[in-house]
Amino acid sequence: MNIQDKVVIITGGSSGIGKAAAIELAKRGANVVINGRREQALVEAANEIDPTGAHVAYVAGDISDPQIAERLIGEALSRFGRIDTLVNNAGIFIAKPFTDFTEADFKSVLSINVAGFFQVTQRAVSEMLKAGSGHIVNITASGVVEQPLKAVPSVLAALTKGGLNAATKSLAIEYADKGIRVNAVAPGITKTPMHPVETHDYLAQLHPVGRMGEAQDIVDAIVYLESAQFVTGEILHVDGGQNTGQW
Ligand code: NAD
Repeated sequence: MNIQDKVVIITGGSSGIGKAAAIELAKRGANVVINGRREQALVEAANEIDPTGAHVAYVAGDISDPQIAERLIGEALSRFGRIDTLVNNAGIFIAKPFTDFTEADFKSVLSINVAGFFQVTQRAVSEMLKAGSGHIVNITASGVVEQPLKAVPSVLAALTKGGLNAATKSLAIEYADKGIRVNAVAPGITKTPMHPVETHDYLAQLHPVGRMGEAQDIVDAIVYLESAQFVTGEILHVDGGQNTGQW
């Protein structure tokens, strides 16, 4: 799969999909740099990813803060010498009727889902351009963009994750001839700390296949995209058929 020795940055790597991706990529020989807001959660995740500490590093802080984005890029370069892949995974989801969203909801969703992406991606692309190669994977969402679920309304998720899908294609075409691939994985509703266990049975029924996603389903897609050298500008739906709208 060509992952051995790669240097991979994963935002939101202390929990859920991001942590599962970091564990899998490290198992396949990658050096992983994770970011998340809480230092203690990062320390525990780093220990799970690589107990020796030789192939893992972390930077705590809000990814929408330009200084944190800068430190994250700096940490990857100083510890491992380059950046092969950036997984833009940090994100939040708030579901509620449109008129119930508060100003604070608006600011936090835009700041994490959009500003976080911008700050770290711009810096990573600059490094990838110097190297002449790189891969960016944006974790977006199914069920809120092309075929929004009536049962789980979130205009702010549609706005930000739909924007990330569009940015994926836009970046892919801008840098296709510079050796940089840009793809997205659009998960269905996935079992992570984002969803309390008591909601799982209900959420499972919102997928044609009758189950929720597992973090490993999303990780498998990231691993595939990592190896798929002719794939760029792709929005890979990993959602049990949710985006078909035919069920
Ligand atoms: P999670 O809550 O388990 O993990 C989110 C991670 O993002 C955490 O590590 C958290 O520390 C980090 N994070 C949040 N805000 C941050 C910030 N400002 N700066 C740095 N890190 C920050 O959630 P998850 O389900 O693993 O979600 C991962 C990604 O998958 C998100 O982008 C989410 O929108 C997307 N997604 C999840 C689902 C789902 O059902 N779980 C569905 C579609 C898309």
